Amino acid sequence: MTNKYIYFIANWKMFGNLQSLNSVSKVASFVKKFKKKKIKLVYCPPATLINSLSKKLKLSSIDVGAQNCHQGETYGAYTGHMNSYMLKDAGAKYIILGHSENRQSGENNKLINLKIKNSIKSGLKIIFCIGETLSQKRKKNTKKILSQQIIQGLKNIKNKKNIIIAYEPVWAIGSGLIPKNSEIFEIVKLIKNKVKGSKVLYGGSVNSKNINLLKKIDNVDGFLVGGASQNSNNFIDIIKKTFN
Ligand code: PEP
Repeated sequence: MTNKYIYFIANWKMFGNLQSLNSVSKVASFVKKFKKKKIKLVYCPPATLINSLSKKLKLSSIDVGAQNCHQGETYGAYTGHMNSYMLKDAGAKYIILGHSENRQSGENNKLINLKIKNSIKSGLKIIFCIGETLSQKRKKNTKKILSQQIIQGLKNIKNKKNIIIAYEPVWAIGSGLIPKNSEIFEIVKLIKNKVKGSKVLYGGSVNSKNINLLKKIDNVDGFLVGGASQNSNNFIDIIKKTFN
């Protein structure tokens, strides 16, 4: 895994305030010293922090991303929402779309497809999340579900060069559980066969203990880290251990 570009995407979810951005400075100075390694770090804080964080990281190699957007292409009367153009304007370069926490609250593949298309148009790089629930896994439907998510989520998108796929089993998110390395390997292989040339990340309970195991999966291009990315020491530990 150490010979290629490795992505570390920090998903802060609905955590963090202006004060929490101070912890990112520690990660930024670590990354600066670590520059010989091929790493790409992206922080996805809540939308309220995108602008401040992108200003703070202006001189750093770390990019900022958003966690979701409205599917609309133009301004509109959608109280409480923001589209990908507005997030780009605020300083985001990436956007997480299709996260299971949003799928669980009603997002379907068709809506996610629309969001991906408009986010590409606005110039954002997409971190497209897919994953099966525990009951789908138990019914041995994982491959079928992932294929549907990929086919419908990426429908009519010819140029996929700005789309990174994150395989995040729903049952692994925030649970402390992770699939076997061999299972992740097989799924990543399947995804790479379906979307030729794509980078594929693993996400779901990645932490500074299990990273020693996860880093051995040699077709994985990096990690989407939720809970453990909120603590700068834990996040630095994950990055260091990936290359040790
Ligand atoms: C996530 O929310 O994308 C995620 C991977 O969370 P966690 O690392 O906390 O399981």
